[in-house]
Amino acid sequence: MNMLQQSRNQVLAQIQSACALAGREPDSVQLLAVSKTQPSPVLAEMYQAGQRAFGENYLQEALEKITALKDLDIEWHFIGHVQRNKTKHLAENFAWVHGVDRLIIAERLSNQRSDSQAALNICLQVNIDGQDSKDGCQPEEVADLVAQISQLPNLRLRGLMVIPAPENTQAFADAKALFEEVKSQHAKPEDWDTLSMGMSADMTEAIAAGSTMVRVGTALFGARPKKAD
Ligand SMILES: *Cc1c(COP(=O)(O)O)cnc(C)c1O
Repeated sequence: MNMLQQSRNQVLAQIQSACALAGREPDSVQLLAVSKTQPSPVLAEMYQAGQRAFGENYLQEALEKITALKDLDIEWHFIGHVQRNKTKHLAENFAWVHGVDRLIIAERLSNQRSDSQAALNICLQVNIDGQDSKDGCQPEEVADLVAQISQLPNLRLRGLMVIPAPENTQAFADAKALFEEVKSQHAKPEDWDTLSMGMSADMTEAIAAGSTMVRVGTALFGARPKKAD
């Protein structure tokens, strides 16, 4: 077994024991492999180990990998900050966008998604713990945004995405409460099934609080080189 296979198996085992501890079904949490800064051959190897969903933060880097790996059946997730002038590339090349935090961004993504593609899956990013420097809408804005974005034709609004400060486990509970609370604002509540929270360092706590998708980089691929962003 190679190293990527081993680390993936370890992460899957950690997800399963977190689910067991929380009394949740083992398949109720999806693993998103965060592959930013990793080169395409490393992603291909992780794919061979069984991974299908990959998360990328930097558009240009992601587009190069999407082209290089176009023969693989990868589900591409964009988890970085969404800039208004980049929405067309996101709408055309990704299956999921997690960092939507304004109506105008969602409208552009819906307009730019081709009718021949499946609807683009969206998570609304919420600044759940009031951080100064963080992206994400305010918790008070979520109900209105859910009501509006869930009407857009070429999107499927799947849920919320949060990146709380390290060790702030209360923020996971707050995100779960908000996730349950705003479901009734959704035009298609059956689409509302995703709570994207938890990373390498805190996936167990996130799963205990109700995460359905953990975004894991370091624990799968090892430490990343430092990159200014
Ligand atoms: C980099 C990143 C992750 C993964 O972080 P790790 O600590 O390496 O697991 C998850 N989510 C987002 C939004 C990221 O930018």
